[in-house]
Amino acid sequence: MSQQSFTSRTIEYEALLEEFKSLLKKNGEKFTIQREVILETLYNSDEHLTPEALHQLIQKQRPELKTGIATIYRTLSRLEESDMVTSLSFGAQGKKYELGAKDHHDHMICTGCGDITEFLDEEIEKRQELIAAEFGFKIEDHSMQIYGLCKNCQD
Ligand SMILES: [Zn+2]
Ligand SMILES: [Zn+2]
Repeated sequence: MSQQSFTSRTIEYEALLEEFKSLLKKNGEKFTIQREVILETLYNSDEHLTPEALHQLIQKQRPELKTGIATIYRTLSRLEESDMVTSLSFGAQGKKYELGAKDHHDHMICTGCGDITEFLDEEIEKRQELIAAEFGFKIEDHSMQIYGLCKNCQD
């Protein structure tokens, strides 16, 4: 299977932004330009980003905002609580985040270097539906993470 990339978004940015604003409001938090830039950067990135990598990216693109790492951590956990972003653990090194509103895909995660490969296999998807049906289980969502070592890390 060749490497696939899942770059399409299942929601328009404006709609996502509105969702984010009402999430903040519900939690009694202020909507700030720093928080908006966090959302926007996640929306525009096809990578799975650690909070630190996201911080670096924002510092590079919008240094004048002086977005602190603590703001990034807080905003990411808010976004994750409401499924607007999802996180992938890659062992002791931490977590990487991606936008929730991407076409469905599964992940292979290297515990050596944290590299993440996205894939979608129709057979696996179908099997999961059959298994759920057998148990009378209604699937709402699923995520599959395969952990191991990438080619580079095996040497
Ligand atoms: Zn690796
Ligand atoms: Zn992904």
